[in-house]
Amino acid sequence: MTATNRDTDLGATLPATTPAGVEAIRDAIRTRHRFLLTSHARPDGDSIGSQLAMAFALDALGKEVRIVNADPAPEHYQDFPGMHRIEVAPRVERPDVDAVIVMECSDLSRTAVAGLEGEFLINIDHHAGNHMYGSVNWHDESAAACGEMVFGLIQALGVELTEQIATHIYLAILTDTGSFHHSHITPRTFEICRQCVEAGVNPAVMARRVFDSNSFGKLKLIGALLDDMELADQGRLAVLRMDEQMLEATGSTHNDTEGLINLPLTAREIQAVVFFKITDTGDVRVSMRSKYDVDVRRVASEYGGGGHKNAAGFTVPGPLAAVRGQVVDRLVRAIAEGLESRP
Ligand code: 5GP
Ligand code: MN
Repeated sequence: MTATNRDTDLGATLPATTPAGVEAIRDAIRTRHRFLLTSHARPDGDSIGSQLAMAFALDALGKEVRIVNADPAPEHYQDFPGMHRIEVAPRVERPDVDAVIVMECSDLSRTAVAGLEGEFLINIDHHAGNHMYGSVNWHDESAAACGEMVFGLIQALGVELTEQIATHIYLAILTDTGSFHHSHITPRTFEICRQCVEAGVNPAVMARRVFDSNSFGKLKLIGALLDDMELADQGRLAVLRMDEQMLEATGSTHNDTEGLINLPLTAREIQAVVFFKITDTGDVRVSMRSKYDVDVRRVASEYGGGGHKNAAGFTVPGPLAAVRGQVVDRLVRAIAEGLESRP
């Protein structure tokens, strides 16, 4: 069989990156023609990168592709290849496709796109606690980004790693590892990045585009947030808070808040950060980041959210005063447990 030979050839070039569990997904794609791709609401670099890498790979196979997300991508990703292909819509009326590929979502509701229930679902995710809601499921918690899984799939499909595809895979990995700060980074992560660079990706340009494209409003917002920051647990926990007034006063937008949560972690003492964003509906969106073995995903899951050990989030009804104390106490406990298990 040609396909097998091809896989063997690719495997011979790069045995270390052929992931387990990819075959069922590869076959489900090979035997279908029209695809709808989606990912989670408020997309991040991994969801955008995974979807567009997949879209370009499906193009190469002659498939029909449509991408639908509930929310627009952050502003500074708009120049990346293929961004204009993403439709932003809260629902899809009649998908009329052979399969929906859902990436980065532990359950279908994370997409916040209605109308996909009952379709042939291909579930590709690396978050702990995936609900295996797909018609076919591929769940690999060991992947540092969903983009790593997409790389493995593209390779299994025998698609050439073009510069466009490599750009999106690299974007996914660069952002989801917190620019190579989080756990889960393995030799495989660097092997994939190595191939992306070989395919034409310039790491310096990518880092500048992703991390050094702030608006002045964002710089002002950083000042205001850090000025307002409170410390708990003898400086081990940083607490950030933001509301609409703060955005207005600094001339910034919601889009400008991306990545700011990582700033306090640059202080040596700080082991975890919690960022409370008070939304205009009155809900509180809670984002958390941590170092090493401090497990914020477990905290998020207790509040109905999810994520990874070092990056997780959830949303709760406000007001902030009703939730702040208990979330802070819970994080102090997570820090104590994490420090205990540190070698
Ligand atoms: P962020 O704080 O950047 O919004 O999210 C950090 C990580 O936690 C991401 O991997 C994101 O997918 C996950 N996450 C954030 N909020 C939620 C949520 O409400 N539910 C689940 N399942 N995961 C979340
Ligand atoms: Mn991810």
